[in-house]
Order: sequence, then structure tokens, then C-alpha cells
Amino acid sequence: MTRITWQGQRYELQEGETVLEALLRIGASVPYSCRSGVCQTCMMRAVAGDPGEASRHRLSEEQRARGAFLPCICHPQTDLELAPMQDELPIMATTVVSKTPLGDVLRLRLAPRKPISFRAGQFINVHAEDGVVRSYSIASVPTLDDGVLELHVRRLPDGRVSTWLHEVLREGDELCVQGPLGECCYVLGETQRPLLLIGTGSGLAPLWGILRDALHNGHTGPIYLYHGSRDAEGLYLHDELCALEAMRPEQFHYIPCVSGPNVSPDCRSGRASDAALADHSKLTGWRVYVCGHPQMVEETRRSVFLAGARIADIHTDAFTLSR
Ligand SMILES: Cc1cc2nc3c(=O)[nH]c(=O)nc-3n(C[C@H](O)[C@H](O)[C@H](O)COP(=O)(O)OP(=O)(O)OC[C@H]3O[C@@H](n4cnc5c(N)ncnc54)[C@H](O)[C@@H]3O)c2cc1C
Repeated sequence: MTRITWQGQRYELQEGETVLEALLRIGASVPYSCRSGVCQTCMMRAVAGDPGEASRHRLSEEQRARGAFLPCICHPQTDLELAPMQDELPIMATTVVSKTPLGDVLRLRLAPRKPISFRAGQFINVHAEDGVVRSYSIASVPTLDDGVLELHVRRLPDGRVSTWLHEVLREGDELCVQGPLGECCYVLGETQRPLLLIGTGSGLAPLWGILRDALHNGHTGPIYLYHGSRDAEGLYLHDELCALEAMRPEQFHYIPCVSGPNVSPDCRSGRASDAALADHSKLTGWRVYVCGHPQMVEETRRSVFLAGARIADIHTDAFTLSR
């Protein structure tokens, strides 16, 4: 039986349990969010014992050297003594500059009180009331948007944080964030390469940032953006994307896709990923970005790889929900 030591007390791990699950079972007050090794909210240090490679492989060399691991995906084979990370990922204060409802999606702009270094397409962890943490992708480009963090938050039925952000948070309020994290960003250089961007729902957030970052950095290759939604209402940046396409008709192609029954003549019928793969069946040499619903991201990652895109050229952000 494997045991963990937390705050001087020793506890047995139950069959199949992760370290995070054990901590929550014993009532430990530890922050967490995605529970799938993405957001890093629950990151800890192992001061004794081996948490195993699987719980560390997404961390930087520096974090690993300090004993960091992710308890939410950790099934240790040896006893572990745990300690908090503390100084990792400092919490930073921002001010809510504006809230703009775009159908079910809230465009939220936050001004950091001290400048934050970030790239469009990364994500931040938002600390809501009662210490609940959720991740949101960054849709803004620091140099184009005066360092403001723009988030696109889709309201989920009974969703704790998304409902709070939509309904309770006010302009002028303080909102604390951690980060940035993630590497789903425009890759500088190789400006002539074709880019394929595929997103569902608020999965458009990082893609909107990556698209503007690419154009701002002088990208010359063609860029195709497929945005999918069940209905036309969910194509929440339709007008802005059409306007951008009209400005660069040779280079930028926006393909709105509706998977539900009411499809207007200017939209494609069906799923965004299906439309993208139907139009581009050979992706050798392309750089591909896929963001949004986790199952769509996983399936599309496989499909674009089979269509010829190199693993290193496939960038994804799965919007995993907390359980
Ligand atoms: C890297 C990353 C980036 C992300 N970026 C974005 C983004 O840009 N925009 C965005 O809108 N979202 C994004 N997300 C998702 C976001 O972090 C939140 O998960 C989302 O907003 C829902 O949080 P919530 O607190 O509102 O909902 P929760 O309270 O977490 O509930 C989520 C939904 O699941 C259901 N649910 C919750 N718990 C259970 C359970 N135990 N059993 C069954 N059903 C349950 C709820 O009814 C609800 O519909 C991202 C996630 C990740 C990991």
C-alpha cells in the first residue's frame, strides 16, 4: 500500500486513487481545477519519494529540478512526502476593464495592475470567489492590445465560475489570475507556411489571438480558420472575422460552420473539423492549431496527423472541464 505524507500526517492511497483525490478525500485544502494535468493549479513538490514521470513530463526542467509534479495525474509507486510549491505561479491582480456579451460568450477584458508577459493563445488561471480556479485562454496580443488580457468565457448551464463571471463580476472589480501557461501560440519565423486553425465554441479565443499575432508578425502564408458551432448565434466573432477576411481576401479565409439544422447560406453545414479535413486532405508542411471541446481536439489531432501534419506542428488546447 502506497502512502502520502501531508502536513506531518501519513495517509494511505486507495486503489486507483490519484494523489489529488486522496488529498481531497482527507479534507486537505488544496487548489485544483482541470484534474487532467493541464492547468497546473494543483502543482506540488515531492520532498521524498518518486511521483513518477507521468506526473512531471509537462513541467519545465526547472520545475522538475525542484521536485515539482502534478498530483491530479499522479499514481505513485513509492511513498511520497508532499510540500506546497508556494512561490510558483504568483497570483496577480487585474482590473475588469470591460464585459461585452456576445450571445452565450462573454468577452472579458482585464488590465493587469503590473505588466504581465504573455503570448496570445496561452491561458491563465482565474481565481473566482471562494478560491475556485478555472483556466481561460488569452485572445489578445500584448503589443496590439496594450497588455490587456482578453478572455472569451462561454456560459455553461450551472457552471460555477462561468456563471459568476457572466453575472456577478462587474467592470472595475479586481480579479486575480495566475499564469500565463501553455504553448499553443503562433511560432515566430517560417512566415510563409500555411496555417490551419480549427475551433469549436469559445475555442475561438486562442485562435483569434494566434491569428492576429500571425498577421502582426508579418505572416505571408495562407491562413484558414474554421469556427464551428451548433447554431449561428455561437459564431460570436462572425462580423469581425468577415471584416478581416475582406481586408486580406488573398491570404485569410474564414469558414463558419454550423452543425445544427438551421444553416444560413454564408455558413457551411456540419462540424468545423470535418469541413477543414474535407477541404485540406494533405497537410504536409502545414502548421495546425486545434482548440475547444476535448473530444473534438483529440479526434482532430489524430486526423490532421494522418493527413500529413508533423506532430511538432500540431498545437492544441483542450478545454477540459473540472469534474
Ligand atoms: C487550458 C484550458 C483553457 C480553457 N479555455 C477556455 C476559454 O477560453 N473559454 C471557456 O469558455 N472555457 C475555457 N476552458 C474551460 C474552463 O476552464 C471551465 O472549465 C469552464 O468555464 C467551466 O467552468 P465552470 O466553473 O463554469 O463550470 P463547472 O462548475 O466546472 O461545470 C462545468 C459543466 O460540467 C457540469 N459538471 C460539473 N461537474 C460535474 C460532475 N461532477 N458531473 C457531471 N457534470 C458536471 C456542469 O453542470 C457544467 O455544465 C478552458 C479549460 C482549459 C483546461
